[in-house]
Amino acid sequence: MISARSAYATLVTNADYAMGAVALVRSLKLTGTRADIVVMHTRGVERSALEPLSALGAHLMEAELLPTSAAFNERHQRARLHANAPFTKGNKPTFHTPLDNFVKLRLWQLTGYDRIVFIDADAIVIRNIDRLFEYPEFSAAPNVYESLADFRRLNSGVFVARPSQRTFEAMLERLDREDAFWPRTDQTFLQTFFPDWHGLPVFFNMLQYVWFNLPKLWDWSSIAVIHYQYEKPWEKDHSKAQQLKPLIDLWQTYYEGRDIPDAVGLDNPLNSG
Ligand code: UDP
Ligand code: MN
Repeated sequence: MISARSAYATLVTNADYAMGAVALVRSLKLTGTRADIVVMHTRGVERSALEPLSALGAHLMEAELLPTSAAFNERHQRARLHANAPFTKGNKPTFHTPLDNFVKLRLWQLTGYDRIVFIDADAIVIRNIDRLFEYPEFSAAPNVYESLADFRRLNSGVFVARPSQRTFEAMLERLDREDAFWPRTDQTFLQTFFPDWHGLPVFFNMLQYVWFNLPKLWDWSSIAVIHYQYEKPWEKDHSKAQQLKPLIDLWQTYYEGRDIPDAVGLDNPLNSG
């Protein structure tokens, strides 16, 4: 059994990611989990964007940007980061602010919980993953969406963590050293901070580009989490919307709270498309 001191957590710093979190929280509820669901949010997020989340039973927790230096913030500012470490495989939506990603690290401050499974707001959980609460810190799946080389890096959209104020402070100290630049923000940082990270199967964090780049890896009966990295399923007509249509439709179904097609993941209900 999962302990009462386990929680899922996500992060929302604007109304767009709050939409993502609505689909995520709905999807988690449908897995039958009894763990708490925590939505960390910055102060600026509109009340109206957060209300649907509390209505679904999520616990809202305010979390501010980290107290990083002005120079650090400048180096990780969107235009600067995109210029110095360009994204060549896909596009980040305009509402994505790289600096906001680092707020994820605040989950180590949620010491009322023993274990946290963090999930990006742009993901949905299509089958129960409560067993991750038994996994050690730091567990994450590889950043696989194109080739074998992807296995060298983790993806920080899903991970298992153990809150600890000490760890949080050690992270802050490591994060903002002179000239520190983390090209993929929290993801690069976490991989550096936890060099011996434990690898989860890719099915715990199936990246949407696998759908068209590595279709042989797409096994509905094994996938637990679908993660819409790069373009978001709620963006209107993004550049890969045609290619990803079945996955976007599935996300919309969760977002709107409609019935999930029979046996998602058991029988692929979408493969006729
Ligand atoms: N996030 C946010 N606001 C931002 C950027 C990121 O709330 O401006 C949060 C949100 O939970 C998001 C996660 O940080 O899912 C990581 O960003 P994203 O998922 O866009 O990155 P990707 O998965 O495309 O690399
Ligand atoms: Mn993401």
